[in-house]
Amino acid sequence: MTKMPSYTATTNACKLCKPLGASLAFRGIESCVPFLHGSQGCATYMRRYIISHFNEPIDIASSSLGEKQAIYGGGSNLKLGLKNVTTKYAPKVIGVATTCLTETIGDNVPMILSEYHKEFGTADSPLVVHVSTPSFSGTHMEGFNAAVKEIVSQLAIESTPNESINLLSGFISTADIRYLREVCDDFGLKATILPDYSDTLDGQALNDYPLIPEGGTPLAAIRTMGGAKATIELGSTLPAETGGKVLEQKFGTRLYRKGLPIGIRATDTLFELFANLSEKDVPARHNAARGRLIDSMVDGHKYIFGKRAVVYGEEDLVVGMTSFLAEIGINTVLCASGGKSGKFEASIAAALEGMDCEFPVVKEDVDFYDIENMAKELKVDLVIGHSKGYTFARKENLPLIRIGFPIHDRVGGQRILHLGYHGAQALFDLITNTIIDKKQSDSPVGYSYM
Ligand code: SF4
Repeated sequence: MTKMPSYTATTNACKLCKPLGASLAFRGIESCVPFLHGSQGCATYMRRYIISHFNEPIDIASSSLGEKQAIYGGGSNLKLGLKNVTTKYAPKVIGVATTCLTETIGDNVPMILSEYHKEFGTADSPLVVHVSTPSFSGTHMEGFNAAVKEIVSQLAIESTPNESINLLSGFISTADIRYLREVCDDFGLKATILPDYSDTLDGQALNDYPLIPEGGTPLAAIRTMGGAKATIELGSTLPAETGGKVLEQKFGTRLYRKGLPIGIRATDTLFELFANLSEKDVPARHNAARGRLIDSMVDGHKYIFGKRAVVYGEEDLVVGMTSFLAEIGINTVLCASGGKSGKFEASIAAALEGMDCEFPVVKEDVDFYDIENMAKELKVDLVIGHSKGYTFARKENLPLIRIGFPIHDRVGGQRILHLGYHGAQALFDLITNTIIDKKQSDSPVGYSYM
């Protein structure tokens, strides 16, 4: 195995900026404008990145700090920016995330916001949620999770007990969010899915551009999350302090943590919980989907059995994919992520427990320089992850199966379904056909029938 160099430079990072993750979470709240407290370039970079994956416009406001504020503090710019956003957008919520600059100069955002509310607050003022997201100390996933925690912590209030459930679904695709909503509906569960950017970042074609797109988790539902009968939090590498923990500690809302439901085993586990909470059997159409999935695995296993894969990206996604690949007979030989939760390897071990497969090399806090070097030595057949792995996959002549975020070089990245029996079916067909396609393309004989 290649010895990892001791220098700390990153070459083609396998992670994104922390406030970018927070901005995505804020986009999933009804009538919310994400707002970056920092210099203008941060907002421009993030908008560019998000737009190229979702193919939707996204407005991210900025306090637009210059040299003077970098020295004397950005409080006045933050207040002016909030006033401008309130006037221009009339939002219900403004989600403020800090950036490297404002964290480095040490702006005290809670104090500035308290002053702002005293100076300019009225009964109609938007609610302001703030989150600390220094990008030099984390990833977009840490920013996303921190924003979800702060949304719950700052917006949920004491409420009467009700029969709904909270579903803190993590950073999943818009198709995944829609799928989870359908599943909850089929179980008869009233679910508050937070955040829900399935419309705000994957909307319909409109004649007029709305300043704030329709959709998002309703503010009223967030306010009453504490009264729900349970919270389900998806992700196996989540930090100790999360939105679900806040609800449990503040309101006693029962918390269940499950891994992302990718593949049969993880989906079974989540569906069992839905069945318990709803006191209903798994709906027939989902049982049928599960049966079809197993049938397709029997049909297709001969094309993929024993193949060797590299999976990279967000830790929870990699954990889920690795478990699914083991179910279909593909050995994941390298699990890699730019994240560093400290829970990556243990989560992979738990996901693979009892499965008949090789245990992969698991590396957190790596970049594509490391991933490429390790993949070369591990002699892999395919690469699974987002578009940023394209360069190395092309260099090594390996097929790249695109999942997760960001997908910059294909259309429909936001609509990739990863979750549940339906997601596993789509992934199985995609992976199997990609392997068949590679074999067919590399074959000296132009065969057209298998
Ligand atoms: S300066 Fe920091 S917050 Fe701004 S885009 Fe770069 S990494 Fe993100």
